[in-house]
Amino acid sequence: MRYANSVVDLVGNTPLVKLGPLAKGLAPLILAKVEYVNPGGSVKDRIAMKMILAAEESGELQPGGTIVEPTSGNTGVGLALVAQQRGYSCVFVCPDKVSEDKRNVLRAYGAQVVVCPTAVAPEDPQSYYSVSDRLTREIPGAWKPDQYANVNNPASHYETTGPEIWADTEGRVTHFVTGVGTGGTISGVGRYLKEVSGGAVQIIGADPVGSVYSGGTGRPYLVEGVGEDFWPSAYDPSIADRIVAVSDAESFAITRRLAREEGLLVGGSCGMAVAAALKVAQELTADDVLVVLLPDGGRGYLSKIFSDSWMSSYGFLERDGEATVGEVLR
Ligand code: PMP
Repeated sequence: MRYANSVVDLVGNTPLVKLGPLAKGLAPLILAKVEYVNPGGSVKDRIAMKMILAAEESGELQPGGTIVEPTSGNTGVGLALVAQQRGYSCVFVCPDKVSEDKRNVLRAYGAQVVVCPTAVAPEDPQSYYSVSDRLTREIPGAWKPDQYANVNNPASHYETTGPEIWADTEGRVTHFVTGVGTGGTISGVGRYLKEVSGGAVQIIGADPVGSVYSGGTGRPYLVEGVGEDFWPSAYDPSIADRIVAVSDAESFAITRRLAREEGLLVGGSCGMAVAAALKVAQELTADDVLVVLLPDGGRGYLSKIFSDSWMSSYGFLERDGEATVGEVLR
C-alpha cells in the first residue's frame, strides 16, 4: 500500500509546470514551481518542519510547549500543522491587512490568532512584532521560531527546495526568480543553486515597489507576504544578482492571468514573482531555463485580488467586472 504516515511527510517535492500563454513570445523555457500543493497550501510548510525539528533537537521547544509567531498566515498554517502533529499549541500574531479568510484557516487548525494594526512602526507596543515578543515572554513554555532571524528558514530551502529544482531541471536551470519576504527562500535556494552550478545560476529577487529590498522606504503596498520595512537576518544580501521591483497593479494583473490562462489559482506574491520573471525573460535566449517559485494558492485572496469590486476600489480594474446577461449572450 502506498500512503504517508502523517500529513507532515507530504511536505516538499513539489512539481514544476511550464508556463504557456503567459510566456508567449518569450525565448526561454519558463517553469513555475507550484508550492500550493504542500499540505498546508504554501512553501512555508518547509520552514515550519525544519524550524520545529531543530528546536526540539536544541531543547528550545519542550514537550507540550507553545509556539508564538508573528505571521501573515502561511507560516502559521505550516507551524500549526506540524505543531498539532507533534503535540504543541500555537498562538499567531497577524497584521490587520491579512484577510479574515487566512485568519480563519489558522483557527481551523486549532491555533489562537491575535490581530494587530499594520499602520504602526515595528517598535510600537501595538505592532505585531512587539505583541509577539510580549506573548513569548509571558506564556510559560513559549518558543518563538522567528522566521525572520531563524537560520533553519533558509536552511530548509537549501536542503529541499534548491535540490528539487536542480534535480527536476537535470541541472539545466539558468535563472531562479522568487519573491522576497523574510528572504529565506532566495537565500537558501540561491545559495544551493550557486554552489551546485559553480556560480552559473542567476538569482533574481522580486520585491513590491516601496519595500526595502528594491530601495524603497517600506511604504505600504497591498501584495501580501513579500517585501519588508526592515532588513531581516534570514536574508543574505550576497545571494541575489538582481532585485526587480513590481507594482501592486502589475502583481495583481498577472495573478489574475495565472488563474484565467494557466489554470493556476495562486496568491498575489506569485503574480509578483511571475511579473518579474517575464521582465527578466525578455533578455534571455532559448538556451535558458528560468524557474519561478509560486509560494501559495489563491483561495485566501478571493475577496481581494479575485474580487472585481475590490480591484476596482483601488483603481486596478477599469470597471466592476460583473457581466450582464446581454454581454454574455453577445
Ligand atoms: N509569498 C508569500 C505569500 C509568503 O507568505 C512569503 C513568506 N513571507 C513569501 C512569498 C516570501 O518568502 P520568504 O519569506 O522565503 O522570502
